[in-house]
Amino acid sequence: MSSFARVILKRGAEKRILAGHVWIFESLLLKTKGPLKDGDIVEVESYRGDFLGRGYFNHHSNIVVRLLTRKREPIDFEFFKNRIHRAFQRRHPLLQATNAYRVIFSEADFLPGLIIDRYGDIFVLQILTLGIERFRNEIVDVLVQLFQPAGIFERSDARQRTFEGLPLLKQDVWGSVPERVEFLENGLTFFADVREGQKTGFFLDQRDNRLLVRQISARARVLDCFSYSGGFSVSAAKGGAREVIAVDISETAIEQARENARRNHVADKITFRPENVFDLLKHFDKEGEKFDVIILDPPAFVRSKKAIEGALRGYKEINLRAMRLLNPNGYLLTSSCSHNLSENQFHHVLFQAAADVHRSFQVLQKIMQPLDHPILLTIPETYYLKSVLLQYLEF
Ligand code: SAH
Repeated sequence: MSSFARVILKRGAEKRILAGHVWIFESLLLKTKGPLKDGDIVEVESYRGDFLGRGYFNHHSNIVVRLLTRKREPIDFEFFKNRIHRAFQRRHPLLQATNAYRVIFSEADFLPGLIIDRYGDIFVLQILTLGIERFRNEIVDVLVQLFQPAGIFERSDARQRTFEGLPLLKQDVWGSVPERVEFLENGLTFFADVREGQKTGFFLDQRDNRLLVRQISARARVLDCFSYSGGFSVSAAKGGAREVIAVDISETAIEQARENARRNHVADKITFRPENVFDLLKHFDKEGEKFDVIILDPPAFVRSKKAIEGALRGYKEINLRAMRLLNPNGYLLTSSCSHNLSENQFHHVLFQAAADVHRSFQVLQKIMQPLDHPILLTIPETYYLKSVLLQYLEF
């Protein structure tokens, strides 16, 4: 007999787990056996008594158990080391292009509740659940042993933690972490503000699209909407754009975009506008402004299933306006990072926007998040970033 408490599922509830998911909702739980505290490792069994795996328990969350393994293996330093090392090996195809990437993407890398981003020799840790919080020391030790980092910073300030009954926190956990962490991506130098920036400091998930923008921006007039720290604007300027306008509502973001532009010697090509994209698009439309490349990378408008209606309107509005602002043969690179909005729903919004402006667009590429933000086929929730490259054609 193992010393773990056991979680017994209702009849039939094992189906989803056998089909590859790792979440056990409270409603699927029949009973627990043995002494059990929140955050403990438990063994999960089907109604018939079949072993399904080991995971961690938290009654505060409506996901009461997240599976860590389907084997009877210990969950300890070696377990985390093995998981992290293997995930790192899967990132090898990226290492020539960049020294900044996501090392662990939670469920999709078989470590639900854990995110680890790497910016050169600085690592950023994000712990989303109590079950993972219990292993903070082991995880830090693994990172130190595997990568000898200069510093590790913890950005456990994601809203999701409140569902687990956890406080939001940001803290130094190892070595020293500078205010600005520099990294290289496809020959460009960017910095991430890992302490205070959005996400863990940079939108690593837009890497492939930055390269794409660079490839389509020669001699172009470019509008980068929701620019944050200027990843797309700098890429466009480096790709030979004639002129770039970067728009973000946050002054801090605009300041950081300026800094990234200076680092890459393209500040003179970019106009920075700390404004609301919705207003500016309307204004440009009225003024008859035209662009050759427009990038739309808004924040997740759909924060919950309920918010979907308003979000759809928001997506439609910005896409419709952008479509009208394009010169013939111009490109629109448009994204949605809301995981509550499906790919189909997003594509439908684009379809409706194009229909309303009476214009034809070729769909040149549909792009998903890059390989360091993997998607697990049997856990659709891991798919969140959907992008489409459209070209406006007259005929
Ligand atoms: N494209 C960026 C990431 C965008 S994140 C990159 O590749 O790095 C979304 C950004 O939208 C945030 O920086 C936020 O400040 C900004 N934002 C949110 N609402 C906005 C609005 N209505 N107008 C302009 N910017 C907005």
